[in-house]
Amino acid sequence: MKEKPKNKNNKDKFYYLLAFLVAIICFAGVFLIIFNQNKDKKEEEKDLAYTELIKQIDEGSIEKIEMTTGSTTIKVKLKNVEEEEKVIIPSTQAFIELVQEKVKEGNEIELIQNSPNIFLKIADTLVTFLPTIIICILFIVVLKMQGLGDKGKVYDGEKGTKTNVSFKDVAGLDEEKHELIEIVDFLKEPKRFHEMGAKIPRGILLCGKPGTGKTLIAKAIAGEAGVPFISMSGSEFIEMFAGLGASRVRKLFEKAKKISPCIIFIDEIDAIGARRTNASGAESENNQTLNQLLVEMDGFDTEETIIVLAATNRPEMLDKALLRPGRFDRQITIAAPDAKGREEILKIHAENKKFSKDINFKDIANDTAGFTGAELANVLNEAAIIATTKKHKNILMQDLEEAVKKVTVGIEKHSRVISDKDKKLTAYHEAGHAIVSKFLETQFEVKEVSIIPRGLAGGYTMYKTNEDKYYVSKTEMEEKLIALLGGRAAEKIALNDISTGASNDIEVATQVAKDMVTVYGMSDSIGPINLQTKEPYEQLSFGENINDVIGSEVKRLIDIAYKRAQEILLANMDKLHSVAGRLLEKEVISAEEFEEFFR
Ligand code: ADP
Ligand code: ZN
Repeated sequence: MKEKPKNKNNKDKFYYLLAFLVAIICFAGVFLIIFNQNKDKKEEEKDLAYTELIKQIDEGSIEKIEMTTGSTTIKVKLKNVEEEEKVIIPSTQAFIELVQEKVKEGNEIELIQNSPNIFLKIADTLVTFLPTIIICILFIVVLKMQGLGDKGKVYDGEKGTKTNVSFKDVAGLDEEKHELIEIVDFLKEPKRFHEMGAKIPRGILLCGKPGTGKTLIAKAIAGEAGVPFISMSGSEFIEMFAGLGASRVRKLFEKAKKISPCIIFIDEIDAIGARRTNASGAESENNQTLNQLLVEMDGFDTEETIIVLAATNRPEMLDKALLRPGRFDRQITIAAPDAKGREEILKIHAENKKFSKDINFKDIANDTAGFTGAELANVLNEAAIIATTKKHKNILMQDLEEAVKKVTVGIEKHSRVISDKDKKLTAYHEAGHAIVSKFLETQFEVKEVSIIPRGLAGGYTMYKTNEDKYYVSKTEMEEKLIALLGGRAAEKIALNDISTGASNDIEVATQVAKDMVTVYGMSDSIGPINLQTKEPYEQLSFGENINDVIGSEVKRLIDIAYKRAQEILLANMDKLHSVAGRLLEKEVISAEEFEEFFR
């Protein structure tokens, strides 16, 4: 489609015009009031101060006073003077009463009191209420503009325009790209598909962790097909005023129909598409938005060439109605990249950066199992920052390695003052993790042990995670528990004390044990049953004491692991002392140095 989206919406124009008009009215009002006062001022022939007037009254030199309630001018006639004077004094209630009193006191003054004329009355009321009116109008305008601004977010900027992202910019994800090529073809030549009688999916759900490239691939589809890309995020609806969510969904689709063929991308669709409940309030507001989305999905003409892509990390949370045929009936899972994918992503993002020649992206890819594309991009950026700070000519391998650590464990905190006692505790704790892992077949090799604080951790043990795994065995999980508890076990055995430093290990271990029991069916007394409840009403009944059984199973797994960790350490006390001693001396031990202790 070559035409530019021409609807810089008429409605938007209307609102701007309205705001403009209101502004003009406000200015006119203020101007009128000032002008009126000026007019009075011009007519004034003599400016008698308030005190002067009172003095004149008391002196008895005044013959006649004429005043009009609400007016800013009074007419005064002095004795022995033919003409009346106009004096600028607001005829407030207090002033009128004062003059009336003076008259009563015996001053011979002719007092004429006019009731206010209608114009003055109106002006007066206006002056009183103008601030309120202006504030009300401004409030309405702000509200309207806010809706407008948000809509702008949807339609303007990069959205609703063509993207220059192509499949080339998306590393890895070969199967996913392959699957999506037919969508690109359809957007390019819808007629061919229609003539063949083929039905193309309207909605595609992209499932995967944040940062795995869902938005990127959606943009790439639009880029490849040369069609506009309109996007909005489900979370934008959450704090919406009543009804606004639904109306924005409607407008999004209206816009899409006008500029079709195009792609609509809804990020975080779970924010609006979560399973409907019969709840009220915010929930029912969400329901309205979701209902509108369903209506729009159903309301497409088959002729319309619009593909709706939606991203979520929690497809199981979505309302089933969203996944029905004709809606988001196709799901594509975007997994975190494997080692090869990570290497490719690193290379793509390295293109605009200065790297030294000896950089080995393969090694970095091997050290970053589980990293998403966004995290890898972040690592490269951190490396560039580190290299700049260190005044390197270009980014060195050591900068990259430092960046990986920075992203995984946090930044080194050299400035933190640590007591010798804490250092010793950390040294034994980390030595404990490292030594225990050494004796566990399924656990990764130690890459580095350190007692330099990073981020929240007082020290860390890094492993070589050079393997991408799809399945994890029960033995592996059991041994993972042992490795995790190795730190706490070492503190206890070597120093006969335990510290809070193990809190994260304990948290992770508890979660692993819980998953083994409730998700992976690895507990013999419970068997292969999923006990993870996602919704209260989904709870199957296994008898009243199922939670007790889960609890005692988790405890049993942890107890066994903790005991095993202690056994390993007790059998290797000499190593525990020497590794901890070396850590206290050097703070960091490399993989080779660690292996030395076992030769
Ligand atoms: P998501 O939408 O899944 O949260 P994004 O598409 O926003 O993730 O990805 C964030 C950033 O991470 C992208 O802009 C890109 O720089 C990088 N990225 C993620 N995956 C890839 C990939 N496969 N190839 C290249 N870059 C990627
Ligand atoms: Zn630990």
